[in-house]
Amino acid sequence: MKAAEAAIGVIGGSGLYELEGLSDVRWQKVQTPFGAPSDAYCVGRFGDRRVIFLPRHGRGHRVTPSELNFRANIWGLKFLGAQWVISISAVGSMKEAIRPLDLVVPDQFFDATRRRVSSFFGDGIVAHVGMAEPVCPDLAAALGKAAQETSATVHRGGTYICIEGPQFSTRAESRIYRSWGVDVIGMTNMPEAKLAREAELCYATLALATDYDVWHETHAAVSVEAVVQNLLRNVATAKDVLRRVIPVIAAPRTCECSSLLKNAVITNPNAFPPATRKKLGLLLDPYFPRGGTRVPRGRNRVPRQRNRIPRERSRRAPAAGHPRSKPDSRTPLQ
Ligand SMILES: [Zn+2]
Repeated sequence: MKAAEAAIGVIGGSGLYELEGLSDVRWQKVQTPFGAPSDAYCVGRFGDRRVIFLPRHGRGHRVTPSELNFRANIWGLKFLGAQWVISISAVGSMKEAIRPLDLVVPDQFFDATRRRVSSFFGDGIVAHVGMAEPVCPDLAAALGKAAQETSATVHRGGTYICIEGPQFSTRAESRIYRSWGVDVIGMTNMPEAKLAREAELCYATLALATDYDVWHETHAAVSVEAVVQNLLRNVATAKDVLRRVIPVIAAPRTCECSSLLKNAVITNPNAFPPATRKKLGLLLDPYFPRGGTRVPRGRNRVPRQRNRIPRERSRRAPAAGHPRSKPDSRTPLQ
């Protein structure tokens, strides 16, 4: 089988469960070492680009933000060959100037979640990936430019604060977040962005404002009805942006996202527990050959093709060492 062509991953948030306009579509299930993703991945082509779409909350919107298996979602995208991840996310606005139906391409995140597993690492292998600039500048630039081609108002840059949810904020919380200077508020981009960095994927968010959260004194406090109504309008805008941005994303990547793990693993390779080393093969193989010594820079960057793409539905990712009957105990969905 030929090498997996670099693919553009799209994670659809609330309201975006299918992506029209794709050809050669198939829904592909992936089992990961971290359990099951939110749903099967919709793999297809948009023009001459390969696209992998995942409905973040599953088709039918079945999974709450706290229940999301973020590690499985990102791992599955990486496993299927994604190099970029466009995160489509409904948000509340925390600034007067960001009106409902406006688009924001954040360049920073604040993680205010409380009970989410936020790393692939652990169990004997430690890595510290830099998060100072959590968004891929190249992907964000492309996304911002495409957004500006639509009729929507676009705000480039800004801080997305991610709360645990699933409840919206109290008024006191909303006011305090505002005093911190954040721009938009949502429930899903953390730890998604952290995990994308660990997986060396370019990550950028298209945030679509549905409401003013609850801080605004003259706008009615956020109601589910108002959110859903704006959500539907935003979904149409998001699809418009995707149609414009996907054709301009192309390999090779020249940003630093593709080599973020190069110097991030701090554990001595000779001390890698074999089971953890095997589990993290998708991330570690480019830098550490099985057995211990670091691979010279630039060698073996592309994982071997054998077994890279499942030939049939439900095929297990090659690094999955655990039988399905013994799921990772920290996986939120289990
Ligand atoms: Zn990048």
